[in-house]
Amino acid sequence: MHEVLRLAYEASADFRGALAERPVGALASLEELRAALSLPLGEAGLDSVQVIQELIQGVEPGLVAEPGPRYFGFVIGGSSEASLAADWLTSAWDQNAGLYAAAPALAVVEETCARWLLELLGLPAASGVGFVTGCQMANFTCLAAARGEMLRRAGWDVEQEGLQGAPRVHVVVGDEVHVTIPRALRFLGLGAGRMVRVPADAQGRMEPAALRKALAGLEGPVIVCAQAGNVNTGALDPMEAIAGACEEKGAWLHVDGAFGLWAAAVPALRSLVKGIERADSWATDAHKWLNVPYDSGLAIVKEARALRAAMTVNAAYLIQQEGSARDAMDWVPEFSRRGRGFPLYAQLRTLGRSGVADLVGGGCALARRAAAGLAAIPGATILNEVALNQVLVRFEPTGGGDADAFTRLVVERVQRDGTCWLSGSVWKGLGVMRFSVSGQATTEADIDRSVAAIAAAAGKGNR
Ligand SMILES: *Cc1c(COP(=O)(O)O)cnc(C)c1O
Repeated sequence: MHEVLRLAYEASADFRGALAERPVGALASLEELRAALSLPLGEAGLDSVQVIQELIQGVEPGLVAEPGPRYFGFVIGGSSEASLAADWLTSAWDQNAGLYAAAPALAVVEETCARWLLELLGLPAASGVGFVTGCQMANFTCLAAARGEMLRRAGWDVEQEGLQGAPRVHVVVGDEVHVTIPRALRFLGLGAGRMVRVPADAQGRMEPAALRKALAGLEGPVIVCAQAGNVNTGALDPMEAIAGACEEKGAWLHVDGAFGLWAAAVPALRSLVKGIERADSWATDAHKWLNVPYDSGLAIVKEARALRAAMTVNAAYLIQQEGSARDAMDWVPEFSRRGRGFPLYAQLRTLGRSGVADLVGGGCALARRAAAGLAAIPGATILNEVALNQVLVRFEPTGGGDADAFTRLVVERVQRDGTCWLSGSVWKGLGVMRFSVSGQATTEADIDRSVAAIAAAAGKGNR
């Protein structure tokens, strides 16, 4: 047994050790990966050492250096050594986290993480917290609680009666809503096509005056989805004004804060999220900016009872007894699941409050450094206010030409070069390169080296 585990440990250590200098993107093509991995399943089994050896060899060329220091793609984040170590142990311990009876230590670790997180993020201490797979499921879970509670206030028990015949629930979003919100609405029977969209400003922030106007025209239960951290610009909705409008209307305010909610843990950034504690629910990720391995999302609901009512398996125990043990399945959509609180616990303790603030605040400083470096490249324009960890840059070819096509070309060249990895995106109809600083391994030198690689790719011109 130990030989195969040692093999896995050594391959993990080798992979992590080489992250800083290996090409950041995957080396193998789709065809090559299929040729290596898409094997027939044999009738007879194989020796586990051989299987793991071949797995390592087969996947290695298809791995992306995501936990490395120069991965700036999407908004993803890496993973710290402490959280990885706890993640290995989570698998080794193999606890079914759904029930206290099956995983007593995990239940206490998660209730402790919940307390720490609420303190760290400045959210109401009595909130309910569910540990889910990611922010998609956190949005779903929070919106399920919102749907149940808003309909309960309208005299309808959606958990028992379903939506057929229920009063209409209005869902209001900003125009730059993340795609996981309409997807959650589909799962919840609220309909992606029924969202009321409110205009957003040039940075993607919901306009509070437009929200007030939209709310004035709605009757019955209303859920408003605001956003902390636009996936392109990093911009945060003006929470204070939005919360005020929702309170006047009696609307439920949900915040999608997959990465931007972490600004609340940084004293210097706290003004960006002013008023956020007045919301009713918050969805965020630990596997992005907090640098915990996948999968780790957090669904937080101010009225804990509403979260429990939407998720609980056994309605007879709707109210958790004060001081009683926590059955995780009462707080999330899952039944059996892994003990994802362990890596989170390890990461929070390793960082401490100041470490979390340094991680998030430091990422913002590195993003500003990247923006300054990129802005100095001839033909480059920064399209966003770099308030958080995101930079959007667009490239004009020298001598004129199609900037969308040229920006795409620069992105492709940078990806091929392998010094760093970023992706293209579209912002307000314009093609951009999106630079996201979310990994804790990144240093100033990594930013400078990456900016130089991007400058070289843009300097080659458009042919
Ligand atoms: C990433 C992201 C999500 C989805 O989170 P997952 O962890 O990938 O499920 C939702 N909203 C925003 C704003 C995001 O950036």
